[in-house]
Amino acid sequence: MSAAAAPLVEVEGLAKSFVLRTGVGLRRARRELVAVAGVSFTLDRGETLGLVGESGCGKTTTGRLLLRLLEPTAGTIRFAGREIQALGERELRPLRRRMQIIFQDPYGSLDPRMTVEEIVAEPLVIHGVGDRAARARRVRELLDRVGLAAAHADRHPHEFSGGQRQRIGIARALALEPELLVCDEPVSALDVSIRAQVVNLLVDLKRELGLAYLFISHDLAVVRHVCERVAVMYLGKIVELAPKAALYREPLHPYTQALLSAVPVPRPGRRRQRIVLQGDVPSPLDPPQGCRFHTRCPKAMEVCRRVEPALLEVRPGHRVACHLHPATGGAAVA
Ligand code: SF4
Repeated sequence: MSAAAAPLVEVEGLAKSFVLRTGVGLRRARRELVAVAGVSFTLDRGETLGLVGESGCGKTTTGRLLLRLLEPTAGTIRFAGREIQALGERELRPLRRRMQIIFQDPYGSLDPRMTVEEIVAEPLVIHGVGDRAARARRVRELLDRVGLAAAHADRHPHEFSGGQRQRIGIARALALEPELLVCDEPVSALDVSIRAQVVNLLVDLKRELGLAYLFISHDLAVVRHVCERVAVMYLGKIVELAPKAALYREPLHPYTQALLSAVPVPRPGRRRQRIVLQGDVPSPLDPPQGCRFHTRCPKAMEVCRRVEPALLEVRPGHRVACHLHPATGGAAVA
């Protein structure tokens, strides 16, 4: 593969465990919570990959691992061809400029004591970009780009609505001209009435600036609007990864089928039969043997309780981890 065609991000076998201490006295025990259990995917320059799944499936942890906001337990992360999982803070610093995050909570992610100008300029100050006047100019440019006015620069976050605060967070994330944005549930804390505006802003910015997004969301309708490919996570693993059109037209994994059955179909007259999953997501402290989804899967077979299915390419670009879809010669992924 030529350097020009290489993905911007390549993740292989990425894993993250947290050690928890449970119980008291003699019953005190050390237990391992595996939040991400070996995920692999790529992200091209200018591409948007959706990462979906129920709360607690490991998608937010995956996003933070990608940016090295959390340290991985295992696996490799390549950004622009360079392995970054073992880099020290000094070597990582220039790469950090190129990858930024938009947080879910536009209330908690902005320091209430700072003005908008200070918030948006902060990454420029940290990375020593420009003098005071140049940074002020850049802040006004960024505010304009995200649909805010220059006059907003002197105000504080509490003077803005949720949608405007998220625009401030987006302006800050863009300050250093990144190539990759991890968007962690960027609209789920917003009123339904303003979600579409912020989603459309992200789509426009991506097109204008050639950004790549890892778009983390539990909202499959938003993901359909924004993403080119979608990865579905369940209990720390990717269970299906496919181009958007293929995934929404014909999901192959029973978990994806259940998730999509709850999403309205855009074409009038077409309906999906709703699949209601039984039971809760099992604890990541004690995930089921075999296929992790077998305790809730309406199509589970005997083999599913014993053998964990690998993520296999069953159609071009379409990978699924399910014994219902045997290998067709495609590559297995951790
Ligand atoms: Fe269901 Fe078995 Fe497929 Fe798992 S491997 S999703 S339990 S059919």
